[in-house]
Amino acid sequence: MSTTNEPSFRESVDMMFNRAVSVMDLPPGLEEKIRVCNATYTVRFGVRLRGQIQTFTGYRSVHSEHMEPVKGGIRYALGVNQDEVEALAALMTYKCALVEAPFGGSKGGLCIDPRQYDEHELELITRRFAYELAKRDLINPSQNVPAPDMGTGEREMAWIADQYRRMNTTDINAAACVTGKPINAGGIQGRTEATGRGVQYALQEFFRHPEDIAKANLEGTLEGKRVIVQGLGNVGYHAAKFLSEEDGCLITGIIERDGALVNPKGIDVDAVHAWIGKNGGVTGYPDAKHVAEGASVLEEACDILIPAALEGVINLRNADKIKAPLIIEAANGPVTAGADDILRNKGVVIIPDMYANAGGVTVSYFEWVKNLSHIRFGRMNRRQEESRHQLVVDELERLDRYLGDAWSMSPKFKDKYLRGAGELELVRSGLDDTMRAAYQDMREVWHGRDDVPDLRMASYIVAITKVAASYRAKGL
Ligand code: GLU
Repeated sequence: MSTTNEPSFRESVDMMFNRAVSVMDLPPGLEEKIRVCNATYTVRFGVRLRGQIQTFTGYRSVHSEHMEPVKGGIRYALGVNQDEVEALAALMTYKCALVEAPFGGSKGGLCIDPRQYDEHELELITRRFAYELAKRDLINPSQNVPAPDMGTGEREMAWIADQYRRMNTTDINAAACVTGKPINAGGIQGRTEATGRGVQYALQEFFRHPEDIAKANLEGTLEGKRVIVQGLGNVGYHAAKFLSEEDGCLITGIIERDGALVNPKGIDVDAVHAWIGKNGGVTGYPDAKHVAEGASVLEEACDILIPAALEGVINLRNADKIKAPLIIEAANGPVTAGADDILRNKGVVIIPDMYANAGGVTVSYFEWVKNLSHIRFGRMNRRQEESRHQLVVDELERLDRYLGDAWSMSPKFKDKYLRGAGELELVRSGLDDTMRAAYQDMREVWHGRDDVPDLRMASYIVAITKVAASYRAKGL
């Protein structure tokens, strides 16, 4: 089949939205109001680099302001365009609603290949872009709060935060203008790993439900499951690392820009990550077979497929060749609407992007709250919690002495129990709770209604219901 009849990314998102609202009972007009993107700002600005002025094109799209601030990352990639930014902004609206992060949806992008510029040049470009957005309140702690996305990370977020602060010297909440900052610039522990961590928590939750596991034609636990991951960027790397190190998954394939690595015995994620860092790609990595046509590995047999790179990678051309019975969308929009139909008819279970990669924005929410409250999580209660635990341990030790050989405390209990939760533990616990709760919400719709055959449709229904409720509360 050709790709010419493949809808654009934004059309794809709209089609998924329409599929869900067709079984919902929304008041007339509200459906259209929720679906459309409120505004997209395009900016073209010049930066003097290497002796000449270079012009860059950037976007910030606001999909829905039913809650403010609106939230969503800023992407640096050559392929960035208005259609893509709007699709991503729409997904942010639904994602935030699904995980109950109190934000509307937004997204930004800059058409740039960041690898073509050195650090100093990237700083000049980022600061100029941030200036253009901030002066229109498209970066603002109470109106629009960007975050990292493809091609950006904590370094860019630190520049953006600093630029905003320079322009708003008396704003006491300036740090909350962007999330995903480094710890020493107002960031929060666990934000960098958050999206990958969320993918792990999503899979852990999925595997708590034997009925759902059976729907994917799988059985047992995550232990020993064969996983293929596409993209070893921030999200793919952390997801693959945690799943292999903590849940016993076997990473049998890693797909990257310059081909794929395959090894049925499992691939050491950290070793490949370090190799890419040194050599710029996976080529030459010694402990796996290299496949030059990387995308073909999406079609290899495995238990779980994790597309963690670009949108549209599973499309009308390859959907019917996919062998994985379970796909978890760590990237935004990796499966097109057409491919989604094909896979659903084949019985493949897809854990949708809106849920699967919501870990990032969830921890962004925690960071934003931390910035507004000007205090790190755990600072007030950690030692108090420890001293209360100490009371219990003292009592148990007394019992231990009293009972002699008949009973003693398990060796690691005391250490583990005594340690009060620091920021990282609290962030992970908040994220885990969020991922579990959102899954339960989707699951209820998925299993509870005859007209909802898949998790994606369920996720849209849950999200749209929440957005609609908040419009209604506003009297719209
Ligand atoms: N860019 C990430 C996403 O697509 C994170 C957004 C955020 O933290 O605001 O969800």
